[in-house]
Amino acid sequence: MNENKGFIKSFWCGNPKCEAMIKAETKATTRCLPPAAKKEKGKCIYCQKAAEYQWYFAQAY
Ligand SMILES: [Zn+2]
Repeated sequence: MNENKGFIKSFWCGNPKCEAMIKAETKATTRCLPPAAKKEKGKCIYCQKAAEYQWYFAQAY
C-alpha cells in the first residue's frame, strides 16, 4: 500500500524492540516526538502496551 507516504503517526510505548519492529514493518527510518505532543492514553502499535505519546515515524521513499 502506498497511502500516507511520508509520516506515520502512531502510539509507541518507548521500547526499543517495538521501535525496531515498527521500523521493519513500516520501512520507517526515523521517529520523533511532535513538539506539541501531549500525553494521551493509547496502545503501542506493536505490543499493545500502554503508550503515552503518538510519535511520527518517517517513511523512506
Ligand atoms: Zn510497544
